[in-house]
Amino acid sequence: MHCPKCASQMNKIDDFRFSAEKCSGCNGIWFRDSSHEIAKSLAAAKSIDESNTNAAAAYNLVRDIDCPECKKPMLKMVDRTQQHIELESCHYCDGVFFDAGEFADLTEFTLLERVKKAINAFKSNINA
Ligand SMILES: [Zn+2]
Ligand SMILES: [Zn+2]
Repeated sequence: MHCPKCASQMNKIDDFRFSAEKCSGCNGIWFRDSSHEIAKSLAAAKSIDESNTNAAAAYNLVRDIDCPECKKPMLKMVDRTQQHIELESCHYCDGVFFDAGEFADLTEFTLLERVKKAINAFKSNINA
């Protein structure tokens, strides 16, 4: 498979819990069937996206791309919890493309939210 943004070769990320490929050129990550929802909750999620985000910043501006699997135009989306994360989504196969650094950003937020929830639960226990 080739990257929808820079046309470099994409390599499978070796994890049985989700299906994803990472670009050898721009370090963008492609998740099949919205599997980023699974991947972002994993403890090791951030390590998937350890890369130089400066080099890939230009690709963040490339947004008119076709799905690498369906070859259909992808939809430009923002993450519903973090509006500054722009991603491209395919509504035929539910694949999602993240630019380098965006997925790590998403996992950080998820972790922070979990901590906040835990603190709120703790507080409400004290008040009860
Ligand atoms: Zn690429
Ligand atoms: Zn697709």
